[in-house]
Formats: sequence, structure tokens, C-alpha cells
Amino acid sequence: MLEKIEKYARENRVPIMLPDGIDYLCSYIKSHNVKKILEIGSAIGYSAIRMALVDDEIKVTTIEKDEIRYNEAVKNIHEFNLDDRINIIFGDALNTDINGIYDLIFIDASKGNNINFFKKYSANLAKYGIIITDNLFFHGLVQDETLIKTKNQRGIVRKIKDFITFLDENEEFITEYIAVGDGIAISKRK
Ligand code: SAH
Ligand code: MG
Repeated sequence: MLEKIEKYARENRVPIMLPDGIDYLCSYIKSHNVKKILEIGSAIGYSAIRMALVDDEIKVTTIEKDEIRYNEAVKNIHEFNLDDRINIIFGDALNTDINGIYDLIFIDASKGNNINFFKKYSANLAKYGIIITDNLFFHGLVQDETLIKTKNQRGIVRKIKDFITFLDENEEFITEYIAVGDGIAISKRK
């Protein structure tokens, strides 16, 4: 069933997490006993499903703004019988109100808004919780700018670099960068 979603993602160019990235995330969830997860950017529900499958007690709230992807995610979550453990919200995460407190906040939406998502949702983070952000490498373009081909790519690289500066200079959080998948950042309160 997971392979069916992976195939759909490939065929429809949905940027789900890379295999070693999602494996790393799931093993982190297991080893740190994470139970409540907030995800920004559900796409078709793949990472939310993978995270929920780590342990029966895990609950995921996830936000998606694209209607087609949202509908596909609802369908996939239902096929996995995870409707009671994955709460998917259709909307723009920049102006969604979330009240809960989460052990893990996983940011995997539009790269240009990472600073905004980080600032907004750190209010929903448990005291010893962590924020994980995906796509810090942008296919290697962040580390090797000679690979940049378009103006659009240059803009995204600049925004990712701004986000890295924001994390490095953050007074409240300390961040480590892990070279798995498309590059992830793990931020904890100091
Ligand atoms: N986490 C998913 C992949 C997410 S891809 C997985 O690994 O399976 C990024 C998604 O974020 C896209 O579907 C995009 O529509 C969504 N997105 C981008 N900006 C958003 C926003 N402001 N609010 C909600 N979703 C957003
Ligand atoms: Mg991603």
C-alpha cells in the first residue's frame, strides 16, 4: 500500500520525503518516544502515514493547502485506517490556528516560508520538543551554487540560506543539520 503512494508520487511529481530522510525521521520518532506530531505540508499523506505507523499511540495533525493533494491524502489515510490518528486540515498553514502542544513539529512545505512557519508554530512546541525542517539542501544547490540553473532556483537557494542564518543566530533554539534525504535540520530549545 505504501508502494502505491510512492508510485503515485513519482508519476504525479509530488515531492514526498526521500527514503533515507523518512527512515531517519521515523527512527528519531521511535527512539525519542514522540507521540504528538504536527506536520506542515501533508502533500498526499505519505510522511504522515509513515510517522503514524511507527507506534499505535502516535497522533498526527497535518496541514495541506493544495486541494487535489489534500483529497488524495484523505483517501490514503482512510485506506490505512488511520482516520482516528491522523487529523488532516485543508488550509494555508500561514494562517491556520492550531491549539495543541506537540512533541515534534515537522516543517515540509514551501521553502520560502520556513522562517514564518518556525516562528508561528514554535508556540505549539512542548518544552522539550523538537522542530525538524526538510529540504535544507534543495538537491545540493544550497551547497554548490554552480548547480543553479534558473532565477527561480536562485531565489529558493537564497531563502534556504536565510533560514539557515535564522537558525544559526536563533537565541532560543540550537540546530544540528543532518545529511540525509534532501537535508534536514533538527532544532531544540537551548
Ligand atoms: N510531507 C510530505 C511532502 C510535502 S510536499 C511527504 O513527505 O509525504 C510540500 C507540500 O506543502 C505541498 O503539497 C504543498 O502544497 C504544501 N504547502 C506549501 N505551502 C503550504 C502552506 N502555506 N500551507 C499548507 N501547505 C503548504
Ligand atoms: Mg520535503
